[in-house]
Amino acid sequence: MENIMFIAPPAAGKGTQAELLTEKYHIPHISTGDILRDIAKEDSEVGQYVFETLASGNLVKDEITYKLIQERLNKSDCKNGYIIDGFPRTLEQAIEYDKILKNLNYKVGKVILIDIDEKILEKRITGRRVCENCNSIFNINDPENSPEIESVCDNCGGKLYQRKDDNLEAFQRRYSTYLEKTKPIIDHYKNQNVLYTVDGNNSVEKVFEQVEKIINK
Ligand code: AMP
Repeated sequence: MENIMFIAPPAAGKGTQAELLTEKYHIPHISTGDILRDIAKEDSEVGQYVFETLASGNLVKDEITYKLIQERLNKSDCKNGYIIDGFPRTLEQAIEYDKILKNLNYKVGKVILIDIDEKILEKRITGRRVCENCNSIFNINDPENSPEIESVCDNCGGKLYQRKDDNLEAFQRRYSTYLEKTKPIIDHYKNQNVLYTVDGNNSVEKVFEQVEKIINK
């Protein structure tokens, strides 16, 4: 299967769509945000730095992100395709990613942009809950997507928590970072003829239908 990359503002549903794809197509989901949240739990200088950076809503230093991406893509489970979400996030990272792909003899695959209104994101961000065990994502502000029992994961029974950066203040910083740093990479992939856009203002199921149509093209 071709690799899939998601580009989207915070809380647009890229993690949720990636999870649905993983379930259906059995290819790994690589989320730099998830990997960094694990590093943030480590009792080390790097762990402390990542913890503070994530909570602030700023981007983590490239040297850390590049190292974790290289290590992850080198694993053998990526050979038959993978879903990448959260990387690249800047034009510099996109250029570095092109080099990493070339070295591994991989192709970028399809790049899916989730287009969505800022007002919807603000509503979603405060309701998002994540499973600390399996990283499944729910939203208590969305009846279609809320867990059956509050604070308990429907999929594995794990405990749900609210991300430190899922508050309006950190959201504003993450959203402006997206507009300033991440949006420019859209043209980078448009020029490579690999960019597809879905309307993220719809329900999870409707967005997934659009995603599947793109994958099966
Ligand atoms: P996400 O789960 O994709 O919303 O990412 C959560 C946070 O992790 C971001 O706000 C950044 O602080 C950090 N992060 C994730 N991916 C990257 C990246 N490619 N470069 C730098 N920081 C990142």
